[in-house]
Amino acid sequence: MYDIVIIGAGVTGCAIARELSRYNASICLVEKCEDVCCGTSKANSAIVHAGYDAASGSLMAKLNVEGNRLMGSLSEDLDFPFRRNGSLVVCMSEDGLPNLNELYQNGLANGVEQLRIIGKEELRSLEPNISPYAVAALYAPTGGIVCPFGLTIALAENAHINGVEFKFNTEVLRLASNNENVWSIETNHGKIQTKYVVNAAGVYADFIHNMVSAKKIHITPRRGDYCLLDKSTVGFVEKTIFQLPDKYGKGVLVSPTIHGNTIVGPTAIDIQDREGTNTTAEGINDLINKANITVNNLPIRQVITSFAGLRAHEDGHEFVIGEVEDAPRFIDCAGIESPGLSSAPAIGILVSNLLCKKLHLNLNPNFNGKRKSVLDPKTLSKDAYAKLIKENPAYGNIICRCENVTEGEILDAIHRPLGAKSLDGIKRRTRAGMGRCQAGFCSPRTLEILSRELGLPQSEITKCGGASKLIVGTSKDRL
Ligand SMILES: Cc1cc2nc3c(=O)[nH]c(=O)nc-3n(C[C@H](O)[C@H](O)[C@H](O)COP(=O)(O)OP(=O)(O)OC[C@H]3O[C@@H](n4cnc5c(N)ncnc54)[C@H](O)[C@@H]3O)c2cc1C
Repeated sequence: MYDIVIIGAGVTGCAIARELSRYNASICLVEKCEDVCCGTSKANSAIVHAGYDAASGSLMAKLNVEGNRLMGSLSEDLDFPFRRNGSLVVCMSEDGLPNLNELYQNGLANGVEQLRIIGKEELRSLEPNISPYAVAALYAPTGGIVCPFGLTIALAENAHINGVEFKFNTEVLRLASNNENVWSIETNHGKIQTKYVVNAAGVYADFIHNMVSAKKIHITPRRGDYCLLDKSTVGFVEKTIFQLPDKYGKGVLVSPTIHGNTIVGPTAIDIQDREGTNTTAEGINDLINKANITVNNLPIRQVITSFAGLRAHEDGHEFVIGEVEDAPRFIDCAGIESPGLSSAPAIGILVSNLLCKKLHLNLNPNFNGKRKSVLDPKTLSKDAYAKLIKENPAYGNIICRCENVTEGEILDAIHRPLGAKSLDGIKRRTRAGMGRCQAGFCSPRTLEILSRELGLPQSEITKCGGASKLIVGTSKDRL
């Protein structure tokens, strides 16, 4: 029997697991997909919000501001890419100035530091490609950009090396609590028993909650479509450019990504299908039109891919975190929509403190809070790189030409704790396949390496787990 079972290996579940791994407790994280970071955490704007827009006094506001403050030291400890590039909420007419000021006041009340409203001259000097019609902006120097895969995987790996067990391809189907203070979790791979359950199931968190509580909650999947532009657009904008928010959220942004691309999006469309991450032509047209309001000459011909993510929009538009009133020992982490990524470090601490008190946990004396990401030879000096290739020639073998990813990095990604098992797993850990050709060149070669290293036939290697096999047979089979 475990002390704690966490449901969901997104950024929320992994942040909680990592914080709990500071303590002596038996912890298991169950995830229905084949890897960490397969849900909303893999498809979002990747912005570490400053924290000015969540309603003052809300849990969202508190955890956003706290999460933002924690992100710098966390990125150093866990070695994932993060940069405080700053953000601008751009006001396009004099009529919008009261709303901009309201946002500023809200930010001050939330405790956001260095926030200020700037006029059009300063705005233009910061961002030469801003629309000539922009009249002012709210400038938040503490806003940042992060690699969402890097963050989630780093949290998971560090939790794992500190003792958290991960069970993948394991879907929670039902939960029941008996009189002996034990939760029995029925999964597609048998039953698991635990004293406490943490529900971090993203867009499915209401399903899980409603299995155990008479006080139902409801989540709407709110789809956001994006376009990702090639790295040749680097420098088009330096800061994250937002529009004044409306009732659906922060509007369409134009931002650099941490890896030097430009991201444009998202839309906000309420849907029914909790797996509905398809993009639509209407959505893409809509976001391009909206982005063209705030910036000039958006280089939209440089789009290399489009994708969509689903916000877990809870009816009350607030993070639902805490023990469920009529389900003791069951902790919700539901409605974790934006700014969930920014807030994850703070959510991790909040939930682990809560469980630490309940279970009277002692500190784990062997906890190691540091972790190194996949070694990127591009960060080495010429001499150090040459030495590395001499020691391990796999680092001299380029597999992904667009992103310059070597075989050495792919081997590291496969064999490290919670290593990659699929093409997308490799992509999220190394960026192989993320470049301009979108995996056209490197897929067969990555497939070969995965097959060789995992000792599986190529026909068993998937793009992203489940039935997503790339090879259905050999041509000789047809003869
Ligand atoms: C369009 C969009 C833009 C966003 N932009 C930002 C942003 O810029 N900044 C920011 O801070 N936030 C942003 N967010 C929000 C942020 O991405 C989310 O808050 C965060 O990723 C949620 O993480 P999570 O771990 O709660 O959910 P998820 O990442 O979805 O993880 C939940 C996991 O639970 C698993 N699961 C579900 N049901 C079961 C089950 N029955 N059994 C086992 N496992 C199960 C799923 O497979 C999934 O892996 C954005 C979101 C969207 C959609």
